[in-house]
Amino acid sequence: MNTSVIEKESIFDVEKIRQDFPILDQQVHNKPLIYLDNGATTQKPTQVIEAISSYYLNSNANVHRGLHELAERATEGYENCRKKVTSFINAPSERSIVFTRGTTESINLVANSWGRKYLKEGDEVLLTEMEHHSNIVPWHLLAEQIGIVVKFIPINSDGTLDLDSLDELISTKTKLISVTHMSNVLGTINPVKKIIERAHQQNIKVLIDAAQSVPNMPVDVQNMDCDFLAFSSHKMVGPTGMGVLFAKEDILEEMPPFFGGGEMISSVTKAGSSWAGLPYKFEAGTPNIAGAFGLSGAIDYLEKIGMDNIQSYKTRLTHYAIDAMQRVPGMQIYGKARDRGSAVSFNLEGIHPFDLAQFLDQNGIAIRAGHHCAQPLMESLGVNGTARASFYIYNTFQEVDIFIEKLKKATDFF
Ligand code: PLP
Repeated sequence: MNTSVIEKESIFDVEKIRQDFPILDQQVHNKPLIYLDNGATTQKPTQVIEAISSYYLNSNANVHRGLHELAERATEGYENCRKKVTSFINAPSERSIVFTRGTTESINLVANSWGRKYLKEGDEVLLTEMEHHSNIVPWHLLAEQIGIVVKFIPINSDGTLDLDSLDELISTKTKLISVTHMSNVLGTINPVKKIIERAHQQNIKVLIDAAQSVPNMPVDVQNMDCDFLAFSSHKMVGPTGMGVLFAKEDILEEMPPFFGGGEMISSVTKAGSSWAGLPYKFEAGTPNIAGAFGLSGAIDYLEKIGMDNIQSYKTRLTHYAIDAMQRVPGMQIYGKARDRGSAVSFNLEGIHPFDLAQFLDQNGIAIRAGHHCAQPLMESLGVNGTARASFYIYNTFQEVDIFIEKLKKATDFF
């Protein structure tokens, strides 16, 4: 580890961070809450809650169309969020940032706008076996509706992608590769830059599902050179119902609108409509203005800590957890990638993941159990479901110790 990382880690003060999250300071079933369901959604710091309430308390008005002070403040706050997102993921311009309701809507937007314009019967979209349903179902819908073919890059037994299969899977019909940056089940960080380079050699576009990566590590869309990238605010200490689609400007220019309505037009006559410029042609109707204020607050919050620091603290915490989990009798962990995020999926022999989740809940510990919206992955792993712990910036090493202690108790209990 170089000195600058050590210096930065020393300023990562988890106890101070915890004070910003009032929700953590409570008892659940008479036990202190230990929240390990961060892959599903993260908790929100006071700064984000205040950013949202300050919009409603001081600036509530609709955006873009008002000629009064409150409308100007609302518009400024909303567009300020776009500026922050642009710089947060190092996008080349604010015109390439479209606000959506979340990752799911962002991917549906690409499928329905870009997909319907450029894909025809027999064209192939290549996914991976570790995709979340939100990066499978939109393509299945297109398969049903226009006859595209959906293919999957398989995974190796360690939970990494089998990239050797790429040459066989890519054909002249492949038009898009849509891949998760960080698996919400296995934790695997995929080598997306390599995949993008390979795809671009054959003029294939690449969409990155960054729902799990943007909250957890520095993400640079220019360095990655992805064509599309999608993420959700609620997984990065921001509010629900707010998300982002980044796309290269020239691609967005050529894409038709997905939703029609107010805000996204340049003019409407009885004969027809014409569209507003980028990114507004993709933002029909009143947007999630409070969500934008909240996302701004979230980006400020994360940037103040530093995404490098966040990644490095969480990597240490996750490896500490995995090491200890491996010593619990009957433990099976799914995914052993070296390069990983903090989602750790596992099963304890003889215990149904739902039973385990309930047992832990009775002990104040929130985890997730089930298929994690990744049924094709469950099939590849040969299981119906798993338990999953996922850590974030406010989780402590002591919490991990309690979690491990309760896992051991569960093996005795069942
Ligand atoms: N992709 C991944 C990898 C996810 O983990 C999730 C949510 O868990 C999604 C997509 C969907 O995100 P949202 O429900 O915010 O649209």
